[in-house]
Amino acid sequence: MYQKVKGTQDLFGIEAKKLHFLETKIRTVISKYGYEEMITPIFENTDVFVRSSGEESDIVSKEMYTFLDKGNRSITLRPEGTAAVVRSYLENKLYASGNLKKFYYFGPMFRYERPQAGRFRQFNQFGIEAFGTSSPLLDADVIISASEIFKALGIENIKLKINSIGDFASRNNYEKLLKGYFGKNIDHLCLDCQRRLENNPLRILDCKVDKDNPIIQKAPKIESSLSKESKDYFKEVLKILDDFKLKYEIDQNLVRGLDYYTDTVFEYILESKDELGGLAICAGGKYSDLVRSFQGPDIPGIGYAFGVERILMIMDQQNLFPKLEDKADVVLIGLDPESKKKTLLLAIMLRRAGYLSELDYLSQNLKPQFRLADQMQAKFIIIIGEEERKNKVLTVKNNSTKEQETVSEDRILEYLKEKIK
Ligand code: ATP
Ligand code: MG
Repeated sequence: MYQKVKGTQDLFGIEAKKLHFLETKIRTVISKYGYEEMITPIFENTDVFVRSSGEESDIVSKEMYTFLDKGNRSITLRPEGTAAVVRSYLENKLYASGNLKKFYYFGPMFRYERPQAGRFRQFNQFGIEAFGTSSPLLDADVIISASEIFKALGIENIKLKINSIGDFASRNNYEKLLKGYFGKNIDHLCLDCQRRLENNPLRILDCKVDKDNPIIQKAPKIESSLSKESKDYFKEVLKILDDFKLKYEIDQNLVRGLDYYTDTVFEYILESKDELGGLAICAGGKYSDLVRSFQGPDIPGIGYAFGVERILMIMDQQNLFPKLEDKADVVLIGLDPESKKKTLLLAIMLRRAGYLSELDYLSQNLKPQFRLADQMQAKFIIIIGEEERKNKVLTVKNNSTKEQETVSEDRILEYLKEKIK
């Protein structure tokens, strides 16, 4: 027997419908915020992701699905959405108008990670990116849009964590401070962090292995290194969130795993006591230098990404999906070969009119055909036999009241329209 690749999933039946339900809700909310969909390829030249995430990031250093294609090009299945959106924004000169540009994406991402609850090797992300404006108002709007999505989905127990990692000068100062501090404690750090100390000490704060290590928890905080501008900017963002009554917690160890963030960074995490508690559902931040580092103009951006499978798990847990199974409006029953053909023609006509219509393609016996109607919880059953054909009528049974009526063929649409609201 063939098996799916480790860390991937098959979605079918209700599970597939849940994904679509959620996707539709999210698209509805975000389009009202003026975001337009950006669909980029599932794979890109490997450089695109290396440029954006940085050689030292977990994504680039250990999680990418990278291969040589038959033309010997290094190709990578996208591990995240931002890099490709920036690449496309520049390649298509979408900055030319000089306006703020807002994009969203929805689709599969690929990371070679150890599969566990809420962590897959193929998973879906929904994310947004806004390019062209640097303003605490925009930052707040972006953060609030994520909270509005949680609201629209009915999800509770979500906590917003926020921090500022400052501009580049602030970060440089802070990195020096951290190098000194962690340098003295290097023996207490995991091997990855020992390596990070040289190249990117900020990442030590973000370490998954060492997250409860007191050495990390007691590290100097970034606030002391922020420039006045960065401090004021952050205060302003927080003030708008306060005005909007959006609760948050400032987490000075929140630095995000990627190189390109500046100033505002944030995460929405689930507060619960089970295995999902503390899991990040949405993560993002402002990036002042990413577009330029792609050899583009000096244009700031801000964005976030949601882990869609994690939303699905929470919605299951909190019982937030409506009934999604498809019930048939009509099941058609034919009692002889000629009538069977007629049920097919009629079914197609009813489907065109918007009714979910189904028939048994094999049997002319009543029993299996009624069984199908039960399985599909059909609202109405239409029966066609020799008698009906001769008189150009249909026998229509209301499957809940069990009442049966004779309806003339050419009145069936009117009849259903009246009965099925
Ligand atoms: P984590 O800390 O959980 O590894 P991350 O910092 O790598 O997350 P991002 O790159 O910021 O995650 O991606 C944004 C969101 O995508 C995460 O908050 C999470 O909800 C989701 N996500 C990331 N990796 C996976 C995965 N392997 N499987 C499912 N969802 C994921
Ligand atoms: Mg990760």
